[in-house]
Formats: sequence, structure tokens, C-alpha cells
Amino acid sequence: MAQQKLVLGFDIGGTKIGIGLGSGEGKILAKGRIENVNTYPEDVLPQLVSTAQRLAGEAGVKLGDVAAFGISAPFPADPVNGIMTAPTNNKHWRNVPILQYLKDNLKMDGCFENDANCGALAEWFFGAGRGCTDMIYLTMSTGIGGGIIASGRLVRGNGKTLSAGELGHICVELDGRQCNCGMKGCYEAYSGGRALAQRMQEELKDKPDSMIMQLVNGKVEDIDMVPLEKAVRAGDAYACALWDEMSRRNAQAFGIYINTFNPQKLVLGTLAWAVGDLYTDPIKKYLPQFCWKEPMEACEIVSSELRRDIGYYAGVAAALNHLQEQGK
Ligand SMILES: [Zn+2]
Repeated sequence: MAQQKLVLGFDIGGTKIGIGLGSGEGKILAKGRIENVNTYPEDVLPQLVSTAQRLAGEAGVKLGDVAAFGISAPFPADPVNGIMTAPTNNKHWRNVPILQYLKDNLKMDGCFENDANCGALAEWFFGAGRGCTDMIYLTMSTGIGGGIIASGRLVRGNGKTLSAGELGHICVELDGRQCNCGMKGCYEAYSGGRALAQRMQEELKDKPDSMIMQLVNGKVEDIDMVPLEKAVRAGDAYACALWDEMSRRNAQAFGIYINTFNPQKLVLGTLAWAVGDLYTDPIKKYLPQFCWKEPMEACEIVSSELRRDIGYYAGVAAALNHLQEQGK
């Protein structure tokens, strides 16, 4: 991979934009952030350029020495043209051509990737997936995003949509639970943090005596994965049954990925490292029901190594991957 290169990474989050100046070895040389809540793109875009200039100054390099930038963006977006179409958390950003803007104003090459693909690249280059040729990264957060590295390359899909790796939206149940994406029966509708929170709020709203309702002092809107985990650890029957169902769905989805891609590693984000063995052990227990023994034994299920810092590595890794794919 590209060594000694300098690259910029822009991590577009729901409430902030993290900007990192990094090297090919994965050192973040300087970093900054811009608050992005309820702001207009014409206010924010120039700040991206000025922050990039400032970071170069802090690191003692010239912006002209930076080889490329990478944008890690949430979906929905248009990755083919590098446009942020309609980010969920910022109503003022509609059809913002961020890739072209930064190319024109930073005067360097750049790329635009969805944030889960960038997470996969970051773990592949600098985290738990180092040295793998085949690995899958799953965000395991409020939603379930995925990124696939197969035969030493990021799998993007065909150039009309570049939408490969939507691993949270494989249908695992006929006429199943409604997913936020509009489909029914998606894996995310069973195991995503937001979907589980919505389900518990619905099922427990009239059950003030349930352990989870007591843990949130009766505030049904506060029910999320945190009280669920506490109730599971305390042995609450409802919580344990839901956890078991979530774990079987996780195993079902992972079995599909393992038989399809034969990865060396499945690298899991937020919930896996926040919860620990209670999260991963039941998945490993159920996995033999959902895939063949040989590829299962050849695949390690591990937690993200970059954890909270993954955002700063995400855009940097995308930029390095972009250079590598061009043979630079
Ligand atoms: Zn879905």
C-alpha cells in the first residue's frame, strides 16, 4: 500500500465533520472538526478548505504536497458523482456536489465513499483487518452498514450505482419486520440498534413493571441498547429472549456472508466492542446452523480496533485506497 503519502480525510457525520491529515502508515498528523448541525453548505464548504490549509500548516507541510483526499459520507448519497443528496440529519444539505467542490478548491485528486466502505478500508489498512485479503466490516450501530474487501479490493458494485455492501439490508424473513429503508424483513430490522429500540418501546410502553421500563424510570423514549444490555446481564426473561433472537439473526446474516465471501475476518463495530463477549459469544454459538464448517472455522469474528477513532481514519483510508487503485 501507499507509504509516505500524505492524504486528507473528511468524515461527514450527522452533527459534525471530522477532518484528518494522515500518512500512508496510518499516522494522523493533524486533525480538526467543524460543527455541521443546521448549517448551510455554502457556509460549511469553504471551512473544509480553510481547515485543510490550517492542518497542513500545523503538520508543517504544504497543501500541494498532499496527494489526495477522501470523503467518507453517510447515505443516502450519489457515490457515482460524489454528491450528498439528502443526509438525514441536516435538512439544509440537498444535492451538494462536495467531491467536485473539494477537487476544484483543494486542487488535488479525491474520492467519495460511503462511510461503511470507509470503515472497512480503515480497519483493513490500520485496524483489525491488517494483512487480510478478504474481510468484511459491519458497523453494528443504530443501523447496520457493511463494507466488503474481497481478493484484496474494496467491492463497490457496478458503476451505475456503486451500491455494493449494503449488508444490513439483505432480506432474512419473508413478510418480516418493517425496515426504515422501506423493505420488509431486512437483517437491520432485527439487529440494528434503532430497530431494536423502536421494537422495545412499542412492546413495553404499557408495561411499567418490566425491568427495562424500570431501568429508564418509565421514560419509554429512553429505551435503547443500554438498558437492554443491563437487563440481559440481570437475567430478565424478556430481555434475554430478545437478545437471543438478535443473536440468532446476527448468526444468520454472518453465515450468509461467510458462505458467500469466505472472509478471513468479520470485523464488528460499535455494539461488539461496547458490549464485549456477551455480544459475540452467542453469535459464535449459533453460527454453525447458518454456514459450512470449513469457511466458518477459517473466519475470525473480532471487534473493531479503531473503535471511536475510526472516523479520522475513514476518509484517510479512502484516499489511500483511491491512490492504490490508480497504482500511485
Ligand atoms: Zn432495509
